[in-house]
Amino acid sequence: RRARAEAVRTLPARTSDGHEIRVAANMASVEELGVIAGSGAQEVGLLRTEFLFMHHDSAPGEDEQYEVYRTIVAGLSGRPLTVRTADIGGDKPVPYMDRPPEANPNLGWRGLRYSLGVPEFFDVQLAAILRASAHGPVRIMFPLVSTLHEVKAAKERLRAVMKKLRARNLAFDENVEVGLMIEVPAAAEMADILAPEVDFFSIGTNDLTQYVMAADRANAKVQDLFDPFNPAVLRMIARSIEAAHEAGIWIGMCGAMAGSPVAAPILIGLGLDEFSMTPSDIAEFKLTLSGLSLPACRDLAVDVLKLSSADAVRDRANVLLGR
Ligand code: PEP
Ligand code: MG
Repeated sequence: RRARAEAVRTLPARTSDGHEIRVAANMASVEELGVIAGSGAQEVGLLRTEFLFMHHDSAPGEDEQYEVYRTIVAGLSGRPLTVRTADIGGDKPVPYMDRPPEANPNLGWRGLRYSLGVPEFFDVQLAAILRASAHGPVRIMFPLVSTLHEVKAAKERLRAVMKKLRARNLAFDENVEVGLMIEVPAAAEMADILAPEVDFFSIGTNDLTQYVMAADRANAKVQDLFDPFNPAVLRMIARSIEAAHEAGIWIGMCGAMAGSPVAAPILIGLGLDEFSMTPSDIAEFKLTLSGLSLPACRDLAVDVLKLSSADAVRDRANVLLGR
């Protein structure tokens, strides 16, 4: 099976009846460029930029960040790069940033909330990402969105930064795609309201599962509850996909679920457009896909939304997968 997976690694990702989806890689450092180049990914669906801030004594400036993003854009040779603005706080603390202690960091000042609260930090990152967009296709993605107000505020900052770059005569892509992550239940519930504001969604199932199930993603005691196959999470995913398509935008997934072969038929059936995963999952994912038909996946997706547990969902998917 391994040899067969390797054989399809660099082929387009298609079901047996020709339904094509996009397969992307998740990335969290410049060093991963080499692995991604040979992984079979047609784009990067998530660049976690926290590495720029976590392994430094202070936040890198605009030029330093720009150099990193530009290097990655160049290394991808025309394949799109989705840069997520910093998701600092929560499970990704950055000690040197002066932050008040929090009783519940995962419910606290993290992700876009932090960026909007510290505009001088946010603007530097936005300027650096925008400047990199002059060198190849770049998308900007906001993490941990909860409200329409936040999305509007983030886009407002982006417009202000663009204006400053124009004044500085610095090049950037005026039509850079802007998207947001669906990882808070409020965003999934309000996906129809948020969709007209952006070019794409990407579902972060790690956080979405944590918040839907109220189960800490890092707490071993509650790992049974922390399960993206739980129908409660699947219903949120289904609703988000439907809202995206109704608004005419595409939707991907960059949480760990996207690389799961058992999840593949369900997510295909629900209509997910882009799957962004760890590069090492790509070959097996494409092989799994090649053995599935779209109508069978659609029937499965309708069925699993009515089931009552994560185990029942997995069992049903495994029947289709012949496992
Ligand atoms: C997620 O929450 O699913 C996600 C992709 O973001 P991170 O794992 O970096 O929080
Ligand atoms: Mg997340």
